[in-house]
Amino acid sequence: MKRVGIFGGGQLAMMLAEAAPVLGLTVSVLAPDADDCPAAKTGAYLVRADYEDEAAALEFAKDCDVLTFEFENVPVRTLFRLQRAGHFIAPGPGVLELIQDRLTEKQFLRDCGIELASFVRIDKAEDLAAGLRVTGMPAVLKTRHFGYDGKGQSWIHEPGQAGPAFDLIHHHPAVLEAGIAFVRECSVICARNSSGDFVHFPVTQNQHKDGVLRASQHPAECSTQTANQAIRIARKIAEKLEYVGVLAVEFFETDDGQLLVNEIAPRVHNSGHWTQLGAKPDQFELHLRAITGMDLPKPDCAAAAKMINLIGDQINQAPSLQSDGWTVTGYGKGVVRPGRKMAHAVKIDHK
Ligand code: ATP
Ligand code: MG
Repeated sequence: MKRVGIFGGGQLAMMLAEAAPVLGLTVSVLAPDADDCPAAKTGAYLVRADYEDEAAALEFAKDCDVLTFEFENVPVRTLFRLQRAGHFIAPGPGVLELIQDRLTEKQFLRDCGIELASFVRIDKAEDLAAGLRVTGMPAVLKTRHFGYDGKGQSWIHEPGQAGPAFDLIHHHPAVLEAGIAFVRECSVICARNSSGDFVHFPVTQNQHKDGVLRASQHPAECSTQTANQAIRIARKIAEKLEYVGVLAVEFFETDDGQLLVNEIAPRVHNSGHWTQLGAKPDQFELHLRAITGMDLPKPDCAAAAKMINLIGDQINQAPSLQSDGWTVTGYGKGVVRPGRKMAHAVKIDHK
């Protein structure tokens, strides 16, 4: 029986672990809070260690046939160390290293010939004025490292806001990006295995508030032509990266149907949670299949699906959503905090 080792124990690890048994796989989880994380109650073998603890990671990896990660800030140093010791990691640490820096991520995408919002590297306050001449306004200043859920981002609507925006992100190395007046945001979740097989879910439409995903729906309201274009772009990225696993590509669609890539996520993705009930196989099964070298069946998807995130005290809405026919998946997080993703709810239209 193959064992998959996951770095990180959050809800994505939990749902990966839950998808493993039907594939005949077992799961180990390494996390600093391994005994008290969403993945803890799945029956996965738990190892409590810091991600920087290379000796613990090597010990963990010994029993695993393949290693993967469920969040983007796993230190790549640890993963490269494991790779050098002969362990197979999918997606590869090189992909993670690329996307851990928004600047190298954007440069890679641009070098692939993919359209994205214009961007400029910002190292010091003096770079802002020239940067704004390139991006125009509004623009958004994003830290190059450690951003998630819109953290480390600050908007600039007029020149006077540039200095304060840089102060807000503590003068960390940043990227200034043109603000896009999109008509829609959408994502493509796809999977590729090491034989180069590629499958994808239909384009999903996403709604964010304050930088955090609130809701997703399939089908997206974009034209078939735009949807096909999004899938072609996702495939191109997966192939250029020689990617193995599930990959999410986030897009902005402008009013003239142009697609700009916002960012990529080398993992299962919140906007794919509807697939758990609305697709067979779902994104979690596809990720496990891809990284363990199995074939990738084309997902058979419901006609329509909606997903909403229950963030902070929105968890209190779970009972009423359930009585309205939504299926709620809780993450088993004891403490409710503002902004914390506590659960999601899915409603499928099988038609
Ligand atoms: P996550 O990793 O959780 O997706 P993040 O912190 O990496 O989030 P982004 O994806 O860069 O953040 O941005 C979060 C959201 O903020 C986007 O989905 C979008 O709604 C808005 N946003 C970000 N950049 C832009 C932009 N250039 N123009 C318009 N809206 C933007
Ligand atoms: Mg994003």
